[in-house]
Amino acid sequence: MSAAHREAARLFHAGLDGQLTMDTLPASGQLTTSPDDPESAITDSAAGASAWATGVRTYNGAISVDPDGNPLPTLGALAKAAGKSTGLVTTAQVTDASPAAFFSNAVDRGAQDDIARQYLSVTRPDVILGGGEDWWLPAGSPGAYPDQPAEDPEEGSRGTKGDLIAQARRSGYQYVSTPAQLAAAGNGKLLGLFANEEMFQQRAEGAGDIYDPVVSLAAMTEKALTNLSADRDGFFLLVEEEAVDEFAHRNNGRRTLQAMGELDRAVAVAVAYAQRHRDTLVVVTGDHETGGLSVEDVDTGDESGDGTSAEDGPFAVKGTGFRFVMDWTTTGHTGQDVPVTAYGPFAGRFSGKHPNTHVFKILEPLL
Ligand SMILES: [Zn+2]
Repeated sequence: MSAAHREAARLFHAGLDGQLTMDTLPASGQLTTSPDDPESAITDSAAGASAWATGVRTYNGAISVDPDGNPLPTLGALAKAAGKSTGLVTTAQVTDASPAAFFSNAVDRGAQDDIARQYLSVTRPDVILGGGEDWWLPAGSPGAYPDQPAEDPEEGSRGTKGDLIAQARRSGYQYVSTPAQLAAAGNGKLLGLFANEEMFQQRAEGAGDIYDPVVSLAAMTEKALTNLSADRDGFFLLVEEEAVDEFAHRNNGRRTLQAMGELDRAVAVAVAYAQRHRDTLVVVTGDHETGGLSVEDVDTGDESGDGTSAEDGPFAVKGTGFRFVMDWTTTGHTGQDVPVTAYGPFAGRFSGKHPNTHVFKILEPLL
């Protein structure tokens, strides 16, 4: 989520004179995202989240291990050791790279079933909400979300660590899989899995692209805050809208805008909470840019790319007669820096331009 993603979403959702909630946060800065990888100068989500969660730059695919593969202390584990409650909320698999880096250590981001095992046996986040049921159950145990669904026949249970949902229940987690169950869940340890894999279908425009999660990111965030704030010692919560990255990979402008809007609704929930609890720090950023996106005027004389990376739009600038297009240059990640905005105590420490490891360096002393 670069400045261009935020600007396209601002024009579409808020208009020329409007602001996204994430853009109203009083402190802002920029983060560079370079990994420490022998083969690449451009980060992936694993190295990016590991930098946030550990303060160490590492190789692409690493989940909070150093470039030699040694495990590093994570913000999630450190917060728990400091007596705080912890949680993660995502529209990706709950074991996908970004949440995983805050709550596990793995030499390969693909080991999602082992990452789930570490959640239950090692770091024990109090709230786990998102997708990725497939990694918690062995093949042949479909769970609440049927295997081989029509929208993606490749989805199906694939865990190799036994029935981790049963294990979660035995170790005291309430397990929920529907919006009604989530709403009814009480405080205490909570595991909610709401899709086989991501809570959306990552495809190009009109090729089966779906963004219609059974529970919104904002609703999951609200539930997590209610649950975690019962701990008088404080809490650490990670919230991720994975669809921003994944639809940008598909250069799908419409769905990227939709996902940005859903992210901003979740930010609004967090900021409203922080306004009622003045000891809460909210930080909004992206782990890297995806798509090489720019925001342009509608101009048929301008080059517009071709194939997947052809311009998307035009989209309306809310409340005006203007329109804009989203122009893509790649289906991969880029090295563009990312904005960071923050609200609450110590928010000003995010001002300036820093490597993404700065996130850990600010947050760790606050635990
Ligand atoms: Zn990506």
